[in-house]
Amino acid sequence: MISGIGKGITAASIGKLISARGLKVTMQKCDPYLNMDAGTLNPSEHGEVFVTKDGGETDLDLGHYERFIDTELTRKSSTMSGKIYSKVLSDERKGMYLGKTIQIIPHITNEIMNQIIASGEGSDVHIAEVGGTVGDYEAMAWIEAIRQMKRRVGEDNILYAHVVYVPYLAVSKEFKTKPAQNSVRDLREAGIQPDILCVRSDEPINAEAFEKMSLYCDVDKDAIVALPNSKSVYEVPLRMEEAGLGNYICKFIGLNCKKPDLKDWKLLVDRIKQPKSSVSVGVVAKYMSNEDTYLSVFEALRSAGWHHSLDINIVWIDSEKLIGDEFEFAGLDGILVPGGFGSRGLEGKIWAARYARQNKVPYLGLCLGMQVAVIEFAREVLNDPSANSSEIDPDTKNPVIHIMPDQIGVDLGGSMRLGNYKAKLNKKSRSFLAYGKGSIIERHRHRYEFNNDYLVQLEAAGLVIAATSPDGKLVEIVEHSNHPFFVASQFHPEFKSRPNKPHPLFRDFVGAIKFAQGSQIKHEQKKTVSRDN
Ligand code: GLN
Repeated sequence: MISGIGKGITAASIGKLISARGLKVTMQKCDPYLNMDAGTLNPSEHGEVFVTKDGGETDLDLGHYERFIDTELTRKSSTMSGKIYSKVLSDERKGMYLGKTIQIIPHITNEIMNQIIASGEGSDVHIAEVGGTVGDYEAMAWIEAIRQMKRRVGEDNILYAHVVYVPYLAVSKEFKTKPAQNSVRDLREAGIQPDILCVRSDEPINAEAFEKMSLYCDVDKDAIVALPNSKSVYEVPLRMEEAGLGNYICKFIGLNCKKPDLKDWKLLVDRIKQPKSSVSVGVVAKYMSNEDTYLSVFEALRSAGWHHSLDINIVWIDSEKLIGDEFEFAGLDGILVPGGFGSRGLEGKIWAARYARQNKVPYLGLCLGMQVAVIEFAREVLNDPSANSSEIDPDTKNPVIHIMPDQIGVDLGGSMRLGNYKAKLNKKSRSFLAYGKGSIIERHRHRYEFNNDYLVQLEAAGLVIAATSPDGKLVEIVEHSNHPFFVASQFHPEFKSRPNKPHPLFRDFVGAIKFAQGSQIKHEQKKTVSRDN
């Protein structure tokens, strides 16, 4: 009906209800835009690029899916018009259509159905979320394809869920269901009668609005679930379950399943709601306009906070505005530098890493956040303030971060290290302690690497190489010892973090903050005691 009302969370929550019943769920985002993947989209416009284990650069909704159903998805879980058209056009060039006229219906719609079916292979239930809104010009082929899907898989095997929004008019003190009715009408015009309605609203809707929706939209009252704003998105599956939606869906598609096990999830939500003390973490970044840009980073931070019964107050620090003043980090309990591309704001991030190292403030660096930590330290060790990454300064005398010789010349789209890679950990490192094992697999999305020409020198000066690729050639984690917590990884741990299982590096980063605070409190108490004495 309108964008931004939480289709992704709604879809992920339905996935949770089904996976909690012991069934295997896969999920997929279908985006009507013409890109080939989300990799080239501007994050400040479109939010985070979520990287799958097989290196797919996808829409941030896949992050919601993975966090809710706790399953690692693949690039097949993200498709868009660009991917569909390019497949159809390349098949046409190969002569696979045998001289036929290629048309939106049936060729594009068939390819959409093929990609949806392929993405669901091996699962009991597949959930496909169509992006955009009903009536969008570019979404039409998608809506038509999901309509036809009913014929393809049989009407007992498919269920249509529509997410609507019911506004509240303060002047007349009433909920307005008309826009929702209109969007259901548009959907019916396209040949789809929704089986369930997920009704978003700012406040809980009243019985009258409920009745109206059921009557005018022709949807069972049992199949309408009210989803007023909640404190945490993780409450949504519980709300749906309370409303009986899980059982309704299972009955509707004839799923034979167990009783839902949502114990862990309930504990999570209880933990989220408990009042806690809070700590402040500065996120030093350049994309400041949109919270979604670092969605998985924020979720990983928050879940580490819940684990330690702490609220994380995320403080945005605009790296472009940093001028190298100590006061710029006043009041922060920890500093995090997330991933990024290009030179804008880089000096500010380098300064943040230096401040954290020298002032013993817990630091977590993610991808670019690792590279700036290396540059920072190298500048001091080499006594060369111009040491840099060759991404930023191709002519620097000391490219401590560089492109691997075998990657030079590959075009931008193809030269990234993407998705899962193994790493082995140094047993004496802080990271080894966090993971509790010597071998890990993490997701990557970067082009530049630690330059091994500087390894011996930086290590001798105190940089801890905490993890490398199994062959030892690529540096994966650097640390500083003699510091409460200074860990920076070349990969993106945030993608593997879960709300009820925070990633070990995030968990221990926040743990170190908590510990530092505890000792500070003890220290202050001691001071008061000694003063009282
Ligand atoms: N720009 C850096 C690189 O390409 C870091 C990328 C990132 O932070 N994801 O290597």
